[in-house]
Amino acid sequence: MASQGAPARKLPTLEPETAFFWTSGADGRLRIQRCAECRTWQHPPLPRCATCGSEAMAAEPTSGKGSIASYTINHEAWLPGLPVPFVLAAVELAEQAGLYVMANLDGAVTRARIGLPVTVRFEQHEDVWLPFFAPKVEA
Ligand SMILES: [Zn+2]
Repeated sequence: MASQGAPARKLPTLEPETAFFWTSGADGRLRIQRCAECRTWQHPPLPRCATCGSEAMAAEPTSGKGSIASYTINHEAWLPGLPVPFVLAAVELAEQAGLYVMANLDGAVTRARIGLPVTVRFEQHEDVWLPFFAPKVEA
């Protein structure tokens, strides 16, 4: 069930290792794989911890906050109904230096800049909650 008026998106295939990531937004929280042994966050998910080799990997909720580490502005409409231009950003999550999630930046093409604080949002399409990020509202 797509959200009313939501733009067309290419949906990921739910694989055993990544399904938690794509369905995490059901409760509004962004979950990232974390090692139970050395507590290192890891994304995208892997069978083992890239830091200590442990297989004790589990999904844990994050704050959903981060900042833009890099971004590209895409002008190509890859799908009919996909609004352009849009920003694809590498967001460095607040939980750990070097922990990046690739996601669209909500609207705000003109606001995209390195270091911009952002917060996660989700857009539901069928059984997938696509994470995207929006600039944090300044108080
Ligand atoms: Zn580890």
